[in-house]
Amino acid sequence: MKEFNNLYLCPRCDSVGELTPSPITCIDCGYVGCLIARHIPHTTRQRWVDLESSDQTWRWDKTLSRKLKHRGVDARLAKEIQKNVKRLFTVFGQHRGEMDGLFPHFMEDYERTTGKKNRQRNSNKGKSMTKRGSQRGALYEGAFLKIMDLNDSFERCPGRIHPDDTRYNFHPDGWYLDGDEKIPIEFKTTKGGNFVSPKMEKYIKQSRKHGRRAKRFDFNSSGYSILIVCCPEERKFGAVVLSSAADDIVPATKHTR
Ligand SMILES: [Zn+2]
Repeated sequence: MKEFNNLYLCPRCDSVGELTPSPITCIDCGYVGCLIARHIPHTTRQRWVDLESSDQTWRWDKTLSRKLKHRGVDARLAKEIQKNVKRLFTVFGQHRGEMDGLFPHFMEDYERTTGKKNRQRNSNKGKSMTKRGSQRGALYEGAFLKIMDLNDSFERCPGRIHPDDTRYNFHPDGWYLDGDEKIPIEFKTTKGGNFVSPKMEKYIKQSRKHGRRAKRFDFNSSGYSILIVCCPEERKFGAVVLSSAADDIVPATKHTR
């Protein structure tokens, strides 16, 4: 699709426009550092639009909160965050007939934007699985960010934090705002059957990495991080606030420190 090869995607306001030399600046909101856009195939997008319009609401699932139990986290805050995440999915559910307007048409072309190869893509099967997963992820994350925009407790994080710091740069999907503290959010979408405890470990590690780095760069003093996971096919979602105590359950690996 040649007509779609020449576009950028703005991570702050979601607008799409014609590519310019780097750094790409959004014509609509002025954001510097837009992404190179890749079109999401219509049939893929439509499949998820149809799934959402079928009459099933999102259900809170305890897999995550049971595994981690908000250990070492202020109880008032954990409760409040859980309430606000539930609110996001209530709004998501209220719009499930309008997902055609909420799902994005474009996602980041990772390889063209960063110049890096995606590490998981070696076999053909792996390639198509990763592709399907990343398209699903892009659709749901895109819609989720739009819903987050409507809630004052949340904020997007359009760009990588301290990209020039080779060791400690990081990029959460968004922030939860608690007074002066900003807690990084990682948002994940899983395929059916994968909303199970062992599959969460990779996500927990990534979320903890954001927590440690956010504290290092003074976004907060607690070092907390938030992990939100949803499984559209099973209509499940869950969330947990993580502190360094989560490392006892899922230890950090070298590159997530
Ligand atoms: Zn913009």
